[in-house]
Amino acid sequence: MKWPSFARRKARTVSPQWDAESGEFNFKELRRRDPLTNLPNRHALEDYIEDLIPKAKRGDIPGIAVIFLDLDRFRRVSMGMGYRAADELLHAVAERLQESVGEDEFLGRFAADQFVLVSSESESIRHAVAIADRIRNRIRAPFVVAGVELFMTISAGVVFWNPSYTHAEELIRDGDIANVHSKTKGREVISVFDPNWFQESVGGLQLQNELRRALNRSEFEVYYQPILSLKSGRISGFEALSRWKHPEYGLMPPAYFIEMAEESGSIIEMDRRLLEHACRQLRSWHTLFPNFSDLYLSVNVSSLEFLHPDLISRIDRTLRNSGTYGRHIRLELTESLLMENTRYTTQMLEQLRNLQIGISIDDFGTGYSSFAYLKRFNVDTIKIDYSFVQRITEDEESAEIVSSIASLAERLGKTSVAEGVETKSQYEALREIGVDAIQGFFIAPPLSSERAGDLMKLVQDRENHLDRILEDRMLGHSQNN
Ligand code: C2E
Ligand code: CA
Ligand code: CA
Repeated sequence: MKWPSFARRKARTVSPQWDAESGEFNFKELRRRDPLTNLPNRHALEDYIEDLIPKAKRGDIPGIAVIFLDLDRFRRVSMGMGYRAADELLHAVAERLQESVGEDEFLGRFAADQFVLVSSESESIRHAVAIADRIRNRIRAPFVVAGVELFMTISAGVVFWNPSYTHAEELIRDGDIANVHSKTKGREVISVFDPNWFQESVGGLQLQNELRRALNRSEFEVYYQPILSLKSGRISGFEALSRWKHPEYGLMPPAYFIEMAEESGSIIEMDRRLLEHACRQLRSWHTLFPNFSDLYLSVNVSSLEFLHPDLISRIDRTLRNSGTYGRHIRLELTESLLMENTRYTTQMLEQLRNLQIGISIDDFGTGYSSFAYLKRFNVDTIKIDYSFVQRITEDEESAEIVSSIASLAERLGKTSVAEGVETKSQYEALREIGVDAIQGFFIAPPLSSERAGDLMKLVQDRENHLDRILEDRMLGHSQNN
C-alpha cells in the first residue's frame, strides 16, 4: 500500500489537511507524520504493522517483512556540511525511497536517518532481501545537496514475521538489531535477523546486568505451547517456555538471552522460578478444567541446573509446595547432556523416576544420537527435532529419519513428539507416519497463560471437533497471544 499521495509533495513542512467531510482540519493525521520528510512516523509505522499481524496469523497475507534501513556515515554529512544540509539530504533520501516503494509496501521514517519499509506481500525471506537490495541500488545514484554532489550508501536489517511475534514493536526491534549487525560489517550490508545478535547490540556485560535486574524485577514470564496427541486428538500437555518481558525491548524468546544466562549462571535461578511458576499454573488448570485432569507440562532443564547437587530435593519441594504430581511433569534434556555424563545422568534419571517425573530427549537427531542410548537411558519421550520435521514434505531423507525415529520409539515403548510443525501438509505427513504427538505453529505458537487457558476452554467445549478447529486455524491464532 502506498501512503496517500500528498506524502509525495515536495513541501518542506506539513500543514494540516482540510477534511471536507468533518469540516475540520485533520490534525490527527498530522501527528502521524514526520514533519521533515512528510513520511508516516514511528507511530504510524507501528500501527500499520500491528494491523498486518492478525492478517498474517489468519493466512490472509503471505507474510510480513520488515526492512530497517539506515544510511551509512550520515553523521559525516551532518558534521561536515551542517544540519540544514543534512535535513535536505534526508528529505531527498525519503523522496527517493518513496519512489521505490512498490504495491503492498509501506515506508516510514523511524528516527534520524533511519527508515522502515514494510512489505505485506513477501512470502519468503529471499523476497524481503530482494527488496532491500533494490533500495540499496537506488540509493547509490548521487544526491545534490547545497549544490554539492553526495554519494550515499544504505545498510539494512531484515526480519520476517513468524507466529511468535505478537506486536509490531518486536518486529521493529529485530530489524533494528539486524541493522546494527550490518553496521559492524561495513557499508551497504544487508543482514537477516539472528537472535544471537541481541547480545552483540546490547553488549555482553550490560546484558548480564540486565538479566540480574530482570530476575529481581520478575520480568520473566512462562509461555505455554500446546502438544497435541494424534492418538487421542486432544491436547495432552504444554511445553513451558521462558519469555523475557523487557520494559523497553518488549517480549523476547530465550534465543536472545539464554546463552548469556548460561554463561553468567542466571539460568539456574530462571529455571527454578519457571518450574515453580509452571507447577502452580498446572495445578490451577487441573482444578479449572476437569477434562484435562491428565494434562502434563514439559519443562526445559539447562545442563547447569541438571548437574546442580540440589536438583532432586528442590524439584521434590517444588512439587510438594504446589501440590503437583511428578507424573504431570516431564523434564526435557538434550542429547548432549545425556551423553556427556553417563554415570551421573543414569543415577539422576533414576531418582527423578522415583518422583514419577517423566523424561524427554529434546531436539532428538541433532546430536550424536546413538539409538543404543535410547535403550540405555530410561526416557519416556523423544522429541523429534524441528529441522527434520520442517523438511518432511520436501526431502525424502528427512521423512525417512522422522519415520525411523517414530517407529523406533514405538518399538521401545516411548512416546514420539514432532516439534516445529508449521503446515497442514507436515501435519498430514506426520499423521501418516504415525508419530504420537505434534507441537508447532500449525497448532499454536507459545501462548501466555491466559491464552492457553482460553484455548483449553475452547477445546473443552468442542471436544469432538478437533479437526474442524485445526481446519479453522482457531487455536491461538484468533487473537493476540
Ligand atoms: P526447544 O526446547 O526446542 O523449544 C521449542 C522452540 O521452538 C521454542 O522456541 C518455540 O517457540 C519454537 N517453536 C515452536 N513451534 C515452532 C514452529 O512451528 N516453527 C518454528 N520455527 N519454531 C517453533 P523458544 O521458546 O524461542 O525457545 C528456544 C529454546 O530455548 C528452546 O528450544 C529451549 O531449548 C530453550 N528454552 C526455552 N525456555 C527455556 C527455559 O525456561 N529454560 C531453559 N533452560 N531453556 C529454555
Ligand atoms: Ca524443549
Ligand atoms: Ca526442541
